[in-house]
Amino acid sequence: MTAPDRRERYAAALYTTLEVSPFHTPWEHLGPLRRAVWYARAEAAMAIADSEQAMVRTERDDARRLVNELACPTCKGSGLDPDDEGDWDGGVGRHNPNTIGPCPTCMGDRTRQGSAR
Ligand SMILES: [Zn+2]
Repeated sequence: MTAPDRRERYAAALYTTLEVSPFHTPWEHLGPLRRAVWYARAEAAMAIADSEQAMVRTERDDARRLVNELACPTCKGSGLDPDDEGDWDGGVGRHNPNTIGPCPTCMGDRTRQGSAR
């Protein structure tokens, strides 16, 4: 979605919050001057949404960093043996990922400390 599309959607959505009266002009028929007022309101709402999204991204990145710090270096947190492809299944001609054994370092615990904790 391009920036003008987004602003248009926000402005139209905000405009729908107006009480409907017999004099209510549909958004599609609104003139440029009246639209400009709603675009300004839309931009204010978008600025709040953007700052909230940035906060969520920061929290998500912090959580990912923490998970990576705690993760077992051998299996990188998957808990699975990276050298095990799984049992060969001739029926479908491929390895079965559901039969991959536990990581030899953490024994499937997924953290650096492993099962010794
Ligand atoms: Zn591991």
